[in-house]
Amino acid sequence: MKVEILGSGGAITIPRPLCNCNVCNEARIKGTPYSRMGPSVFIHDISLLIDTPEDIVHQLNRSNITKVKYCAYSHWHPDHTMGRRVFEMNYDWRNFPPNNMHTQLLIPEGVKPGFEEQLGTMKHFDYFEYLGIINRTILKDDSKFEIDNFIIQAIRLKEDYVYGYIVSNLTTRILIIMDELVGWKVPESLGKLDLAIIPAGVFVNHPITGQQNISENHPTLKSECTFRETIDIVGNINAEKIVLSHIEEPDRLSYDDLLMVEKIYKKKGINLEFAYDKMILEV
Ligand SMILES: [Zn+2]
Ligand SMILES: [Zn+2]
Repeated sequence: MKVEILGSGGAITIPRPLCNCNVCNEARIKGTPYSRMGPSVFIHDISLLIDTPEDIVHQLNRSNITKVKYCAYSHWHPDHTMGRRVFEMNYDWRNFPPNNMHTQLLIPEGVKPGFEEQLGTMKHFDYFEYLGIINRTILKDDSKFEIDNFIIQAIRLKEDYVYGYIVSNLTTRILIIMDELVGWKVPESLGKLDLAIIPAGVFVNHPITGQQNISENHPTLKSECTFRETIDIVGNINAEKIVLSHIEEPDRLSYDDLLMVEKIYKKKGINLEFAYDKMILEV
């Protein structure tokens, strides 16, 4: 299976507009792997995109992707959906009747209400369906959606408007969770995985210097999983390889800092890697 992290950033990408911090300035000069666009993953074997952040247009342009046959969504939050106008890439703007390309959207049943209530998402998709560039499939909980010899399973997280995905074929099984791990316990049924991609969480303390990074009473800490909590989850996932993504600018960690954090945890016997934009994972 060939999995590409198209964007390894979170809601606040790196560089962040207007920001003059060291992490953003370095990213402006060096580009990838120091810069990070919004959260998105692509599985090349089945042409499956997961989520459409604002900069998905640029992410697709810089990759070798020539078709997006499927797009699965994790939840309605803007950093995961607001690039959805990208599907207009499918429209034939010159021939009539148009000879469009087409993307099948996979929307878990618990994501659908958020799409109907927030940001005009479902209305926007009504328009795309009218243009003939997408159609929508609602994934029922515990159902299996098949693409060729691959099976896609949407799994509802503790925050029940958010889903992760298990993608498997005869030889390989991977887990992709884009965001919102808070309160999630690894279910026993998850079993053995070849790869798990999960969000890194909020770094309450700088993982190298220990410096406090966020006010202790900040409401974010009630709604978001912390990096420390993520490490507990990492300990409970049985995976050959674990990759942490959704890395937020306000945590002020550079690509080099995160390489150092990987080494610190390796010494403790915890194998994890941090994602970067355009990271290819062959499993
Ligand atoms: Zn997010
Ligand atoms: Zn910055």
